[in-house]
Amino acid sequence: MSFTVAIVGRPNVGKSTLFNRLLEQRKAIVDDISGVTRDRQYGVAEWNGKTFNVIDTGGFVPQSEDIFETEIRKQVRIAIDEADCLIFMTDAAIGITDLDDSMADVLRRSSKPVLLTVNKVDNNERLLSGSEFYSLGFEHVFFVSSMSGSGTGELLDAVTALITTDESEETERQGELPKIAIIGQPNVGKSSLLNALIGQERTIVSDIAGTTRDTIHTHYNLFNKEFILIDTAGIRKKNKEKDDLEFYSVIRAIRAMDEADICLLMLDAAKGITAQDVNIFSLAARKGKGLVVLVNKWDLLEKSTNTARDYEKQLKEKIAPFTDVPVIFISAKEKTRIFKVIEVALEVFENKTRKIPTSKLNDVMLKAIEAYHAPVVRGHAVKIKFVTQLPTVVPSFAFFANFPDDIKMPYKNYLENQLRQNFKLSGVPVRIFFRKK
Ligand code: GDP
Ligand code: GDP
Repeated sequence: MSFTVAIVGRPNVGKSTLFNRLLEQRKAIVDDISGVTRDRQYGVAEWNGKTFNVIDTGGFVPQSEDIFETEIRKQVRIAIDEADCLIFMTDAAIGITDLDDSMADVLRRSSKPVLLTVNKVDNNERLLSGSEFYSLGFEHVFFVSSMSGSGTGELLDAVTALITTDESEETERQGELPKIAIIGQPNVGKSSLLNALIGQERTIVSDIAGTTRDTIHTHYNLFNKEFILIDTAGIRKKNKEKDDLEFYSVIRAIRAMDEADICLLMLDAAKGITAQDVNIFSLAARKGKGLVVLVNKWDLLEKSTNTARDYEKQLKEKIAPFTDVPVIFISAKEKTRIFKVIEVALEVFENKTRKIPTSKLNDVMLKAIEAYHAPVVRGHAVKIKFVTQLPTVVPSFAFFANFPDDIKMPYKNYLENQLRQNFKLSGVPVRIFFRKK
């Protein structure tokens, strides 16, 4: 799943209202950018059984008219470059503005499908006045009310009709090589690590184009282990202007993430983990990706005996509740522990793909359940009788119980902790389901 839809439009037309509607209960990640922009949001939407990424490109809070216009145009261009489909949102209550016109100019020239969406069509009157938007010259025009949801179904139908590859996320892929992506903010050292690994030239088997035009898959053979490193084109062939834009780097990170089994989230040791890193981390976890945190530029820090331990502790407080994740302190520049990175990434891949035999799973987990029962609810005892691992890409466990709906979050957390303590699941998000038996 790596189809990406970007919602563009001037401020206040209703982009984030639509965004929230597309995501429904699914949690968005909000990227809080200081200064001129307001929050930018990323998330995963589902419609007609298809999932896709949605980006609300946010809006620039006007500082001065011309900065505003240049910034918005820049953002539209990036969205055109990076997304597979654009929702160009306008406001029926206001009508066509100069800024709409100038954004339309840029968007008309794109080769990507543009779905012109006239928002705030809350009543028939607005529908009539909204027809002026046909004059912007787009083939696809949708009249919606993001607030009430009317018309958004047709819009979503149009989006999902564009998604041709419907790779089911939940089915097992066997015999495929582990795919590893290095993600992180600009300048943390991603390309330095890649170059340090690529420096071992004999290890490269071949470069294969990724499934999206922006990624390169490099086939490696190290320690007699084969794997694929997913590299976004922007990492090796630097385009400085674009790389400096975090928006660009985030979209790239999400694309690489979608194609990967394991994500190596790289941080700059001196800067620590930022709010955006935490967002990317939790997005990867929600997408069921294996995770390893790399603290790079460790050479630059003054260290005493407990530095790494304390650093890891603080880092884990930030990424909680999912803290069962390997953290490696490296220096890409001095090539310290760079092979350890690959070793650990492959361990996480093993953890993620290992199938726990049902008998062993029940042996261990039924004992843990016996030691600490699910709380009694409305006078009846909740009994879990059997557990099995489901054949899914993201390790998932189904617990069969007499009253599955009465098992609450704290007990679910207890079961997850027990799974983690007894089976190697480091770096792996797991899913737990309760079913009726
Ligand atoms: P953004 O800046 O483009 O993300 O716009 P917001 O989503 O923040 O919405 C701007 C304002 O328009 C808010 O006050 C929303 O409640 C309002 N709004 C959004 N969608 C609709 C709609 O369909 N109808 C009406 N009447 N108001 C809407
Ligand atoms: P990217 O944008 O994440 O790909 O980052 P780069 O690999 O281009 O690195 C950004 C800067 O950090 C460059 O000047 C690198 O030389 C420097 N750098 C990368 N890794 C390390 C490291 O481990 N230690 C130090 N001291 N500098 C590093």
